[in-house]
Amino acid sequence: MEELEDVKQFLPTTADVSDLRFEASDIVIYTDSKDFFLDNSETVKKMVSELKKRVEVRPSSKLFKSPETAEDIINDTIDDKAGVEEVIFQPSLGKVIIRAENPGNVIGNRGSGLEEIKEKTLWSPQVERVPSINSKIVDRARELTVEDPEFRKQFLHDVGEKIRLDKSVGEEWIRLASLGACRQVGRSCFLLQTEESNVMFDCGINPSAEPGSTENFPYLNAPELNLQDLDAVVLSHAHMDHAGMIPYLYKMGYDGPLYCTKPTRDMMIMQTLDYISISHKENQSAPYDSSDIKKAVKRTITPEYGEVTDITPDMRLTMRNAGHILGSALCHIHVGEGLHNILYTGDYNYDSSEMLRPADTNFQRVETMVTEATYGGNNDEQQPREKAQKKFLSKMKQTLNKGGKVVVPVFAIGRSQEILGMLADEIGRDYFDYPVYIDGMIKDANAMHTAYPEYLSEKVQKKIMKDDDSPFLKENLHSIGSYNEREEAIEGGPCVILSTSGMVTGGPIMEYLKYLAPEEKNSLIFVGYQAEGTLGRKIQNGAER
Ligand SMILES: [Zn+2]
Repeated sequence: MEELEDVKQFLPTTADVSDLRFEASDIVIYTDSKDFFLDNSETVKKMVSELKKRVEVRPSSKLFKSPETAEDIINDTIDDKAGVEEVIFQPSLGKVIIRAENPGNVIGNRGSGLEEIKEKTLWSPQVERVPSINSKIVDRARELTVEDPEFRKQFLHDVGEKIRLDKSVGEEWIRLASLGACRQVGRSCFLLQTEESNVMFDCGINPSAEPGSTENFPYLNAPELNLQDLDAVVLSHAHMDHAGMIPYLYKMGYDGPLYCTKPTRDMMIMQTLDYISISHKENQSAPYDSSDIKKAVKRTITPEYGEVTDITPDMRLTMRNAGHILGSALCHIHVGEGLHNILYTGDYNYDSSEMLRPADTNFQRVETMVTEATYGGNNDEQQPREKAQKKFLSKMKQTLNKGGKVVVPVFAIGRSQEILGMLADEIGRDYFDYPVYIDGMIKDANAMHTAYPEYLSEKVQKKIMKDDDSPFLKENLHSIGSYNEREEAIEGGPCVILSTSGMVTGGPIMEYLKYLAPEEKNSLIFVGYQAEGTLGRKIQNGAER
């Protein structure tokens, strides 16, 4: 490829390059030279400014110390306070991943810790935060992300080659097709096409459709969609109405890249694994199995917010904070050289919330915006946040004071953490001395939040870093993991119960309703959207039985 030839021109003869590779939009140089590995900043700087690509230098297998020796060195070098839990070597990529409770103690002052590890071991170190809450499903998700580095190396190189193919000189046109979500809440899915590229935004399920109905999934049989021609899938966030059918694309033969943020990737794994297990529990067949989720994860590329990434010969993606849930992104696509700019928002939030910073709306150019309008109906009126919070707290207090239980149906990701954040501020006030139970995947979603505090608002970030102040580790917060524990909550005294599913379509919330709804002193409080056709909506509309 031409670009790799260009790279060679920048390299000093002493660079001793053993391999030159694309890693999707980026370029990776593998070197046999210790000196070049440890000191290449001038060369790299020049390349980045001329080639407009991110460039990384990594050691070849000739260079790095054996994993056994390197692990000893790493353990000796890093402060105990770092709480290193796992060290994973990826020889084919020259990378070592250090998983620690306190990444800051590994990174050191201005990266000095990492520099030291690099010098002593001759590996490229990378740090990941271990969540401060144990969750098997988070562990499983994390395991999947580091599987099969050899495959990944080849895959990312192939993606890189495809991105750099010459653009055809056809007519310039852009076409956007809706394969779901329009005039309906759920099954978000859009197809963006040019002469050159086919890119999909989101691929979700419809939570309000009856099982087995044709309205469950997007129109993946639309004539304009051919999975073999699909170049990339961009995922805005991990909610099931946007992410639920991503593994299905891989089952049906798509084998290209999936672009999303790191938390979105991990939470998509979590949510879709849960979807499979719930389907089985309810004696329904899931549209895919865990091997399809694995296929998707092995092909996932995770840009940071604000990072500009080429995804096809004529499309450039930039993701920005959407303020909706952990890792959610507004997806901006620049088409051609200044031809057109499209913003696909997914779900977003302009306000700062308990957990997140408000959506980042500073785009240089946008000619077309495709936006969510879930609350955009004629009769939809969203209350100001403060007013809604006050209402929630006063209803909660009232119920607890008269000895009742408060049941709150919530999505595992997003609204549940918002409510927990709000309750954490109440705990410690004298009236609030009741247990708060969380059921369903909420605990796992909480764990995910503690793995990626950098995606949260400054305020929560600080609280999470100090475990004793984390809204997810309050004394009276109990996670329900078994049937017996659920029974205890149901039969015990006044309490608050947060449980999935958010629209009362299944999951543990059904148990709570069954046992707690008949008692007048208990309350059911809705804090999220209830789509047409869901049991939640029927109750809101006054159904009595
Ligand atoms: Zn959402």
